[in-house]
Amino acid sequence: MSNADYSAVHKTWRKPRTCKPDFQNPDPVVCPPTWFFDNLAFIGDEVVGCFLIRTEEGLVLLDCMNPDERCRRLVEDGISQLGESAANLRAILISHGHGDHFGNAEYFQKRYGTEIYISEIDYEFARNMPSSLPWEPVRFQADEFLQDGEAIAFGTTKIHAVFTPGHTKGCFSFIVPVTDEGRPHRMALWGGSGIMPDTDKEEYRQSLIKFTEVCRNMHVDGEISTHPCLDMGLARYELARNITDGMPNPFVLGEEGYHYYERQFYDYVAPGK
Ligand SMILES: [Zn+2]
Repeated sequence: MSNADYSAVHKTWRKPRTCKPDFQNPDPVVCPPTWFFDNLAFIGDEVVGCFLIRTEEGLVLLDCMNPDERCRRLVEDGISQLGESAANLRAILISHGHGDHFGNAEYFQKRYGTEIYISEIDYEFARNMPSSLPWEPVRFQADEFLQDGEAIAFGTTKIHAVFTPGHTKGCFSFIVPVTDEGRPHRMALWGGSGIMPDTDKEEYRQSLIKFTEVCRNMHVDGEISTHPCLDMGLARYELARNITDGMPNPFVLGEEGYHYYERQFYDYVAPGK
């Protein structure tokens, strides 16, 4: 059965999923900033977070949480708690034009000169933010527009960008090279997960099929999510913080494991949904 054909799998002993982040939660559980690969860390809470990548050309963030003081502190202080300096923040790659992903880009750009990468479509979208959405229009200047299929190089770290419209019209997903005590792996970040009122489900599904193919070709063997409820992130970061030598990294799923995870997104847009 291919992922594209996936519609229903009999659930037996597994718990039903509650995948939707609780955006109304005013006091979400905060995750201690966590290195879970040699070069990749998570900063955030149970609702939303971001990823810090250490490269030879400085630090790179994937997304940057909500546009509020609490999240700004989480990110900036989190970088310090990880033993790094926000002054060394070279770039922020933004998956899509929703506030819980671009939130603090303007702050970091003004304070540290951080370069901001976003798709041109979602930059225009976020500059003219619909009043139906709870975020102010963005005021940062995009430094680079993401291009489909490009490998964005920071030294030897090449982050692969894939255009995957659906959640938003300009949504991008990323494939991030990591090492676990020197062993190389590739993590996939599905850029926009939820189905919005304006989501074109067929466009979403086609993007998913495309991303599946790219991940197969690149031998992706794990995933990361900016919404930890989607992938039991907080439980796995806790495990990673306490992991003992000899145990495999909980984010290394193997190629089959990655594609099993990815099925949940096909389920969102399965016929009849
Ligand atoms: Zn979104």
